[in-house]
Amino acid sequence: QKAEWKQLKDAKSVTADGKQFILGANIGTPKDVEGANDNGAEAVGLFRSEFLYMDSSELPSEEDQFKAYKQAVEGLSGRQVVVRTMDIGGDKELPYLPLPEEMNPFLGYRAIRISLDKQDIFRTQLRALLRASHYGQLAIMFPMIATVKEFKAAKAIYEEERAKLIAAGTPVADHIEVGMMMEIPAAAMIADKLAKYSDFFSIGTNDLIQYSMAADRGNEHVSYLYQPYNPSILRLIKNIIDASHAEGKWTGMCGEMAGDQVAVPILTGLGLDEFSMSATSILKTRSLMKKLDTTKMSELAQKAVTECETTEEVVALVKEYTK
Ligand code: PEP
Ligand code: MG
Repeated sequence: QKAEWKQLKDAKSVTADGKQFILGANIGTPKDVEGANDNGAEAVGLFRSEFLYMDSSELPSEEDQFKAYKQAVEGLSGRQVVVRTMDIGGDKELPYLPLPEEMNPFLGYRAIRISLDKQDIFRTQLRALLRASHYGQLAIMFPMIATVKEFKAAKAIYEEERAKLIAAGTPVADHIEVGMMMEIPAAAMIADKLAKYSDFFSIGTNDLIQYSMAADRGNEHVSYLYQPYNPSILRLIKNIIDASHAEGKWTGMCGEMAGDQVAVPILTGLGLDEFSMSATSILKTRSLMKKLDTTKMSELAQKAVTECETTEEVVALVKEYTK
């Protein structure tokens, strides 16, 4: 089996009936690029930029960030790298950036909420990203967007920094896709509105499930509620994908669910465009995809979304459709 996977390293990700998908890697530092390439990643669907902030005793400079992003896009040689702007807060703390004590850190001051508040930090990161865009195929996404207003505010700051760099003669890519993480149920419900402004969506199921089920993703006492295949979650995912397609945009997924072998047949049927996962899951997923028929998977997805009541029913349905 492993030998079969290895042969797929340079292959496209296609189903039995010839529909093509993109299988990407999630990376945490530019060093992970090697693993992504070794495992046949067609893109980086999520570059978590937090390492720059967490592995440091002070705020990372524009230059340090620029180097890291440049290294990543160059390492992917023209394939797309989606960099997520700072997702600090929640369970991720910084010694040099005192955050308020909070009763519910996961519901508190984190990610884009900090970036929109502490704009100097955000602008520094955006400048580094814009400068790195000249060296490869870079895209940017904002984490934890809940409202249209937040997305517009973040995008406006991005446009300001872009215009300033261009005015100063700094080389910047002509077109950079600017998208958002879909990880808050409120955003998923108004995906049709957000799709008018966001170039793409990337579904963060780790948080989307936690917030939909109101169950802390790290709390073992409520881990039974962490249900990626629950019809409630599948409906949100379908809504997001359909909304993006209606606007001619694309949707990826960068939460754990994207590499989940039970979820992949359903996600294929829902028309997810890009699956981004830990590099070591890519070849296994490419191999699974080769066996799937999209017409059949659409039927499976449709049934899971409209007829199933429970996770267990969905799992049974996937078994039936993939045996
Ligand atoms: C997610 O929420 O699914 C995600 C990919 O982001 P993180 O796990 O970094 O919160
Ligand atoms: Mg998240």
